[in-house]
Formats: sequence, C-alpha cells, structure tokens
Amino acid sequence: MLVPAKDMLVKAREGKYAVGHFNINNLEWCKAFLETAEELNAPIILGVSMGAGKYMGGFHTVVGMVKGMMTDLKTTVPVALHLDHGTYDGCLQCIEAGFSSVMFDGSHYSIEENLEKTRELVKICHEKGISLEAEVGSIGGEEDGVIGMGECADPNECKAIADLGIDFLAAGIGNIHGKYPANWPGLSFETLAAVKEKVGEMPLVLHGGTGIPADQIKKAISLGIAKINVNTECQLAFAGATRKYIEAGKDLEGKGYDPRKFLAPGAAAIKDTVKEKMELFGCIGKANA
Ligand SMILES: [Zn+2]
Repeated sequence: MLVPAKDMLVKAREGKYAVGHFNINNLEWCKAFLETAEELNAPIILGVSMGAGKYMGGFHTVVGMVKGMMTDLKTTVPVALHLDHGTYDGCLQCIEAGFSSVMFDGSHYSIEENLEKTRELVKICHEKGISLEAEVGSIGGEEDGVIGMGECADPNECKAIADLGIDFLAAGIGNIHGKYPANWPGLSFETLAAVKEKVGEMPLVLHGGTGIPADQIKKAISLGIAKINVNTECQLAFAGATRKYIEAGKDLEGKGYDPRKFLAPGAAAIKDTVKEKMELFGCIGKANA
C-alpha cells in the first residue's frame, strides 16, 4: 500500500540501514522497482522528479499507474510515492494528485525564504498525513536543468529547518547528482556528523547515490543516513542493456522490435541494480520490520 515515507525511515535509522529511493520514468521502471522490492521484501520509495512527472503525462497519471500496478501485482511491501526536488507548487500539485510523500527543494532560495516555504508545507502535509523532505545546501551536479555546486550544508541551518517539523532532511555533504568526477574528494563525514549532532534523531537523506564507494555509503548510514537516492545508476544500466540488445541486432530478429521485447533487457538490468543497492543499504527483508 502507498504509505508516507516517515515510518519506514525512522525504522531504518533505528535499525542502522537505509531505504532506497529509486526514480521512475515510465511503466517499465515502476514495474521493475515494485517487483524487486516485493521479491526482496524491502520497503521502497518511488521518486518522481518534476520533469519525469511531466514526461509521464502529469502527476495524476503517475498516481493512477503506481496505485493500479500495486493492486495488480499484489504488492505487500510498504511503498512511498515521493516527489523528488519539488517546487512549492509542484508539492501542492502532488499532494492534490495523491502522492504519499513530497520533497520541497528550497535550497536555491535564501535560508529565510526556504524556511518560510517549508514551514507552510509542513502544515499542509501534516494535515493530510503526507511526509515532507526538505533540503539545505544544494547537492552538486545537474537535476532538471538546475546546477548545484555540491555545497556542505550549514549545520545551524539544518537545525532551523528540522525544527519546523519536517520528516526527513537532505543536507549537502559534498554529494553530487549524476556521475562523480575523478577528482571528487568524497563525502564530508565531518559535515554529516555536525548536522547529526544538531538535528538529533531526524532521518537524513543522501542524494546522488550513484558512484559513491560502498564503504562511504556504509559509513554514512552509520552516521544517520536513512534514505539514499539512486537515479543515474539505473539510467546507465538501462541504457547499457538496451544498447547491447540493439548492437547484437536482436531488434532485427523475429519480432525483436516489439517494445515488450525491446525494453525487457533494460528492465532486467535495473532490477539487478536495485537488488545490488538494496543489499548495500541493508534494507532487504525489512518490509515488516
Ligand atoms: Zn537529488
């Protein structure tokens, strides 16, 4: 059933594991993620960016597809449908459409304006039983045309936003969306520890989970990270498997041009990626934890 992400993340923080957030782009991705989570008995967060929501036809389409698919697949694990890097209006639209969780990304506003808008959304979300993620310190790389510099968040600003009553917090700790450059210095555990010190038990979110070495992921979980966003790695896996299919000329054999055959290797590849990530995050078997 579609649930807010708060409970699963509080349990994750207490159990010292992290729940995976995987961005969906279409039906194949949604199905691959739901099937894998069910097979592994793991809670899962389906992320939808503003751009992906628009691509799929709109947020109502997304809600209809995810809910319908969960009924048909007889999904029993907890699933949160979560807006990723939402604008203020985007959050309102998703709340109206039936999402169970939203992220308001006010990191490009001044801290005062970020606090003000986040405060309003806390009230709206909690009246409706929807969980809310906020962000302090922009995450590096490019997301939907917005380029962040990979800042380290100010722990005092993190505390100010946590104190508004949000459910979980994305704080920049040197993480980057997309592929990491060769000269990337790694996560700032110093920042993470300082943020944790200020925000206490609030579950923390690590964006840009693609390409962070496993030992750094594990250390981040031990320091309070309870939700890890994975997007680029699935995109690379999907594209790689599809490329292989075409390069092998499979689309020219028999009815290999059938989209259900054409997209199958990519879907299988992202299932493998999700499984690998869930093993690393430690959330396998935690659906009923
Ligand atoms: Zn992100």
